[in-house]
Amino acid sequence: MPWCEDCAKYWNPAAMNDDGTCPTCGRLVEAPKRQPITAKNLDLRRLAAGDDEEIPKTPWHFKLLMVLLVLYLGWRIVQLFTWIFT
Ligand SMILES: [Zn+2]
Repeated sequence: MPWCEDCAKYWNPAAMNDDGTCPTCGRLVEAPKRQPITAKNLDLRRLAAGDDEEIPKTPWHFKLLMVLLVLYLGWRIVQLFTWIFT
């Protein structure tokens, strides 16, 4: 709850001005609202790298590892079905 010292009052965040100032005295009581994070504007790579840094690409050996993992697990599923149905 944002608290205004001058008015000695708690303010509902929805009742305050959009820039985070008190509606009665105009004092800044809370940081201005940031843009809400939604699935559309969320970029995890940008968050991990920081604002100015270059976004690192996925390394080739990681992709190779993923392909091998899928092949291995696929083969284990084949083994599972032959174990069940034979
Ligand atoms: Zn106030």
